[in-house]
Amino acid sequence: MDGNQEGIGKLKLECPQMHSVGSILKDSPVQSVVYDPGAQVGDRRFWPDEVDQPQFKAHCRHCDKSVGEATATLQSKFRQVVDSASETTEVATLPYV
Ligand SMILES: [Zn+2]
Repeated sequence: MDGNQEGIGKLKLECPQMHSVGSILKDSPVQSVVYDPGAQVGDRRFWPDEVDQPQFKAHCRHCDKSVGEATATLQSKFRQVVDSASETTEVATLPYV
């Protein structure tokens, strides 16, 4: 997987306590964007889905609280990662909702 990183990317999602609440990712340029809640939590799914509009919400198992962010904001952040030639991973902190 060395070389051209264009068209792929990963946005790690964290709660304000820096616990992982999953990630939004694209493994290959032809694949659609998916939300991966974490292997022990559930399956990857298409993202953003209807339930993610207008706000994406996730649950932090460690804090036992819900976190969320406007889906448009996350999409814009994710696009920056995908469009970047050097950075393929970024972290987004989602506030409690
Ligand atoms: Zn947490």
